Amino acid sequence: MAIDDCLFCRILAGDIPADIVYESETAIAFRDINPQAPTHVLIIPRKHIATINDIDVDDLEIVGSLYAAAREIASQEGFSEEGYRAVMNCNEAAGQTVFHIHLHLLGGRPFSWPPG
Ligand code: AMP
Ligand code: ZN
Repeated sequence: MAIDDCLFCRILAGDIPADIVYESETAIAFRDINPQAPTHVLIIPRKHIATINDIDVDDLEIVGSLYAAAREIASQEGFSEEGYRAVMNCNEAAGQTVFHIHLHLLGGRPFSWPPG
């Protein structure tokens, strides 16, 4: 997919506005436009990777950095100890709608398990 066709690459390029809450060398995070919890942030790599299935062994440090971001944002938002959910959907059956991997960070309310 060309970068121009990817919503999250366009946010990375600054073409589409987003409420950015975190930036690092490898990742950025911004608030979800349709939040499912009091805090709902999407953490994305700067590199375009379409799905979990497309993660290369060379990308593992980048993917790890998404979790480092989750930990930092959870601390900023004040729910590190209380707990939070960090979820990445893969392909349509799991509900993936934007094909640039993103970690959903959800916090500020309790969550049930299994998610359904
Ligand atoms: P998924 O369904 O796992 O692919 O998640 C895609 C997420 O992107 C959904 O939670 C949407 O609400 C969110 N989303 C879509 N467009 C935007 C946007 N322009 N800014 C922020 N979040 C968005
Ligand atoms: Zn992209």
